[in-house]
Amino acid sequence: MYRFDKYLVVTMDYLPIFLNIKGQPCLVVGGGSVAARKVRLLLQAGGSVSVVAPALGPELAKLAAENVIQHIEREFEAQDLRERALVIAATDALDINSRVSELAKRQRIPVNVVDQPDLCGFITPSIIDRSPVQVAISTGGASPVLARLLRTHLESYIPSAYGRLALLVDEFRGQVKRQFTNVTQRRYFWERVLQGSVAELLFAGREDAARKALEKAVNEAEEIPEVAGEVYLVGAGPGDPDLLTFRALRLMQQADVVVYDRLVAPAILELVRRDADHIYAGKERDNHAIPQENINELLIRLAKQGKRVLRLKGGDPFIFGRGGEEIATLMEEGIHFQVVPGITAAAGCAAYAGIPLTHRDYAQACVFVTGHLQDGTVNLNWEMLSQPRQTVVIYMGLYGIDVVCRELIAHGLSKTTPVALIQQGTTPQQRTFLASLKDLPSVVHEHDVKAPTLIIVGDVVRLHEKLRWFEGDEIDVLG
Ligand code: SAH
Repeated sequence: MYRFDKYLVVTMDYLPIFLNIKGQPCLVVGGGSVAARKVRLLLQAGGSVSVVAPALGPELAKLAAENVIQHIEREFEAQDLRERALVIAATDALDINSRVSELAKRQRIPVNVVDQPDLCGFITPSIIDRSPVQVAISTGGASPVLARLLRTHLESYIPSAYGRLALLVDEFRGQVKRQFTNVTQRRYFWERVLQGSVAELLFAGREDAARKALEKAVNEAEEIPEVAGEVYLVGAGPGDPDLLTFRALRLMQQADVVVYDRLVAPAILELVRRDADHIYAGKERDNHAIPQENINELLIRLAKQGKRVLRLKGGDPFIFGRGGEEIATLMEEGIHFQVVPGITAAAGCAAYAGIPLTHRDYAQACVFVTGHLQDGTVNLNWEMLSQPRQTVVIYMGLYGIDVVCRELIAHGLSKTTPVALIQQGTTPQQRTFLASLKDLPSVVHEHDVKAPTLIIVGDVVRLHEKLRWFEGDEIDVLG
């Protein structure tokens, strides 16, 4: 993975594109059954195909006899590449394949060598064809079988009528475009149509009725009231994208703009609608990219522009997330919103570290506190936090760790009370440090433990050794 600045990361091995090869001269090198498969693919996409091979297998021989393809009856030569829009090498001779690849690359002709990703300029995906709707799946050559399995899954999800639906939409595109000059309005219109009765009628095979319904919708479209923007305050969970809720994912995929915090993992941002605007709202300790007042104003401004604003926060928005403040200002402004809970760091980290937060033998209560320093002091109810048989979970606790440990011990917790530090919990980078309350500050300093880290204090931490299960979890037992 290549990182070219703090937030933009190269995550794609290939750039997926759809190539228009209608009437374009394409070359396939090889005459066997693999070559035939590729020829079929190119023909389906309207390519004008020549095959160079000393001999053809039965399928290609038939196509050549019917003049569907042109057969160049000899071994490959460099001149065969002249004027080609695309070339596929499908011989079982390694030297020919590499020569085709090398020559084509030199001339900047897109080249694919079957089953040899290292020789390829492009690779061919697994395809779900509902033309004009097409879904292409690639595993970057890592596992064609996986791609095929995924394809089987998707095949069953994508109704076969999707192609016809797309064609129907195409018929009305110009008209809708004229009717709605506002892009956002236009999108809302189509979203409604594609999720409503028009689509249902079409899927049920009633194409004429679907066309009539769409016609009616377009004609009545002027009556659509001015869309009001709204805000989705969504908890993104602690890091693992699999821990998102269904609703979070749905709203992430329909938002027009996302305002996100530092804590939101890149893998989660990936799932936000691709063409949504991204606004980074910061929230590092003492280094807010946008101060809280301005975040509130920003949300209001965007919503008033009619946008669907996704306010995406790490963990749960109502747990040390200032979610309450944000929706209070929205409410004052009369802006619609909804709140989607997320898995808070305490729940996520505890689960992935194998530390139950309550347990009949060790803890009957669990308290969540913030160790964040206000004006340089940690102001907590130490008495309450130092009670026996309870688990204390500290958010944002690294900076004030010295004070926290000192006060907990001073108020009666044993110096040997076990503590777990869980860094980047639930992600592949998760690390767990174990220490006693007494040694904790030095562990934090010596091991350069970094945010986001969650601190769990209490006897339940002892269960970690027995119950740890998460493969990615790297353990440092200390103190
Ligand atoms: N609303 C969030 C908490 C925000 S406060 C929630 O419900 O989880 C930020 C603190 O949360 C961090 O300083 C850290 O203590 C904790 N945190 C969030 N994600 C974490 C993660 N993946 N691993 C460890 N700690 C995490």
